[in-house]
Amino acid sequence: EFDFAERVERVEPSATLAISNAANELRAQGEDVVDLSVGAPDFPTPENVTQAGKDAMDAGHTGYTSSNGVPELKEAIAEKLQGDGVDAAPGEVIVTPGAKQALYETVQTLVDDGDEVVLFDPAWVSYEAMVKLAGGSLNRVDTAPYDFQLEPALDDFAEAVSDDTELVVVNSPSNPTGAVYSDAALEGVADLAVDHDFAVISDEIYEKITYGVEPTSLATFDGMRERTVTINGFSKAYSMTGWRLGYLHAPEELISQAGKLHSHSVSCATNFVQRAGIEALRNTDDAVEEMVGAFEERRDLLVDRFGDLGVDVAVPDGAFYMMLPVDEDDSAWCEEVIEEAHVATVPGSAFGSPGYARISYAASTERLNEAVDRLDAGGFF
Ligand code: PLP
Repeated sequence: EFDFAERVERVEPSATLAISNAANELRAQGEDVVDLSVGAPDFPTPENVTQAGKDAMDAGHTGYTSSNGVPELKEAIAEKLQGDGVDAAPGEVIVTPGAKQALYETVQTLVDDGDEVVLFDPAWVSYEAMVKLAGGSLNRVDTAPYDFQLEPALDDFAEAVSDDTELVVVNSPSNPTGAVYSDAALEGVADLAVDHDFAVISDEIYEKITYGVEPTSLATFDGMRERTVTINGFSKAYSMTGWRLGYLHAPEELISQAGKLHSHSVSCATNFVQRAGIEALRNTDDAVEEMVGAFEERRDLLVDRFGDLGVDVAVPDGAFYMMLPVDEDDSAWCEEVIEEAHVATVPGSAFGSPGYARISYAASTERLNEAVDRLDAGGFF
């Protein structure tokens, strides 16, 4: 019999798993499930990126790379960050198999047993798990009372943080809310970070997917460069979830610590995938614009349809999620909806916000209409 480590027993499996299992079971029975629970764009990877990956394989780029990444990709990433106004150099980048690994390495690098980490609720499920695995203690600031915006929650945030705060995680545009935080909100975070000397993770993985707003990178604010770890990845912007490619950017002192974890765990991100990443960063503006246009159309469709049905949703300015206000017992609501209407959504309580269901609109307008029709017909509003 195994004697499991206490640290793994501290965390739960991903909450979205139960939903996708239920959806898969129904599908196996031949049922037509509208799956609005997924966190992946429903587009193919841009053709030129896939080709670059194939070319790299054919050219023999199939061995290990330098642990922190191939120099050309790290250069392209530094250039990209500089374009966002971040003072970045290739040596301040670690290329990882997905942004998730970049986040994991960062949390492991910064958080000791008992260290306080602040999250804004609702928060993406894995932040909590990562902090618990590192032994940190969670302190949560709720943005739900403020339509998921950060600016009006700044007073609550100021009360929550202290000199004991080790790390704060900011995710804008946000999964699960789609909220894009204003410059004033980020400035508020920056001021408190400097005052209390805490580090900040800025998870900017949905940064390209915004509608009429331009998110600002947190590391560009005064005093933030030296205390920010910027996280990004290729999964969402370029529809590359299965390629597993992401990165972190931080001052070199953090890179040398996190680099130890990186080299002793993953060694490096996949060689030919890194080469495809260079193409994704440099030659995908049109493809990205097209995907973002499609997401915006779907967001508008859902907001309109929910509005017509008298359901008031906070209009998201980014990512491809929105929070639908549902019963207080959101888990029961989501279970009922999948069983009876065959529409898969994720309970808000999985993200720390009961009373909501997260809807992903990475689905065609036809399927989104079908989902709303079914919810309406089933009397779920
Ligand atoms: N950060 C957020 C907020 C996410 O929603 C996700 C994916 O769902 C990730 C990070 C991780 O993405 P990946 O590891 O595919 O790059």
